[in-house]
Amino acid sequence: MAKDIIVIGAGIIGASIAWHLAKAGARVTVVSDSGAGGVATPNSFAWINASWGNPEIYFRLRIRAMAEWKRLAKDVPGLPLSWCGGLCFDLPPDRLEAYAAEHSSWGYGIERVDARRAGEIEPNLVAPPDFAVYVAEEGVAEPVPTAKALLADTERLGARVIVGAVDRLALSNGKVTGAVVSGETISAEEIVVAAGAGSPAIAASAGIELPLETPPGLIVHSRPHRKLLNGLVHAERLHMRQTAEGRIIAGSDFAGGDPGENAEATARELFAVTKAALRGADGLELDFHTVGYRPTPADGFPIVSRADGVGGLYIAVMHSGITLAAAVGLFAAREILEGERDVLLAPYGLERCAR
Ligand SMILES: Cc1cc2nc3c(=O)[nH]c(=O)nc-3n(C[C@H](O)[C@H](O)[C@H](O)COP(=O)(O)OP(=O)(O)OC[C@H]3O[C@@H](n4cnc5c(N)ncnc54)[C@H](O)[C@@H]3O)c2cc1C
Repeated sequence: MAKDIIVIGAGIIGASIAWHLAKAGARVTVVSDSGAGGVATPNSFAWINASWGNPEIYFRLRIRAMAEWKRLAKDVPGLPLSWCGGLCFDLPPDRLEAYAAEHSSWGYGIERVDARRAGEIEPNLVAPPDFAVYVAEEGVAEPVPTAKALLADTERLGARVIVGAVDRLALSNGKVTGAVVSGETISAEEIVVAAGAGSPAIAASAGIELPLETPPGLIVHSRPHRKLLNGLVHAERLHMRQTAEGRIIAGSDFAGGDPGENAEATARELFAVTKAALRGADGLELDFHTVGYRPTPADGFPIVSRADGVGGLYIAVMHSGITLAAAVGLFAAREILEGERDVLLAPYGLERCAR
């Protein structure tokens, strides 16, 4: 008998989990108070990577997640993914070399490049770096079209998508029995909370505390322009790429810069820096900027697990959700439907937050 499952959230994480559950035969209802595409998801830089700054155990999950996107793209044709490669020189040379040595030893496809090669990879950089690291296997998922495509395919597989706000979870004898949406209860045997920054309030209604921070990140978006960038460029305080629509998007960090007191002024300054870094960008115009709030568990790592003490409740909240979505969807669906927890998820249980 197929399980009735509610997935709360239609961002990249909810969409991927819902797709994997529906694909495996569950009866899925997606409930979201945004349109398809979510809240943090549309404001994302959307770099898929296993780059510097993380312990090896997390690198292993991320590298698997990159592979899972390729698997998912075969199942959902037309997903707007691009394996465009990333050129990284946002660290001092000694730290960049340490990153290259460490990640090469872990099996990441690192190429050390000089200014000539950097200029070949990105011919429109005004100042190609003397030393950079290039990773051809990094890419991007255009976030909203990807989430929408996954959700559309989930509906094609038989799922229902409901637009509405979840007020609270319904419980009986320590187990979820449904979600109360705009005053009406929708019954389910299992509930997945993939509601990004909205997750703590929903979890709290079942007595579960989710320690989540939501730091802001500002990204500037140009009007569509002829091609200036081939892939991702991570220079010091300037991370940029060109979208499938032709927009140059940039942050002082891929996770978005601090908007400061005057986000408008910060965006204008950042856009000027972006323009100055690119040859042939005289006609590049700022269209708009976004300030997104990254759903980031307090220790920085994902929470993807059942909620101990409440039957039928699964939590999936994280930063780096664009990188992780395909793997998280697969692993969560397997855990919910088959009771099998992937070893790569071992460090990411909710129980660690209570320690
Ligand atoms: C500026 C910025 C840059 C980033 N850069 C990267 C990057 O380069 N690479 C990367 O991997 N990640 C990046 N991230 C992180 C990534 O975008 C997020 O981890 C991811 O988008 C989270 O997706 P989500 O589906 O969990 O949340 P969201 O997209 O926020 O979706 C949450 C969903 O839950 C719904 N919801 C919430 N509360 C309720 C409720 N009570 N009832 C009903 N529905 C509800 C919302 O309507 C929405 O549909 C970045 C994020 C930001 C903001």
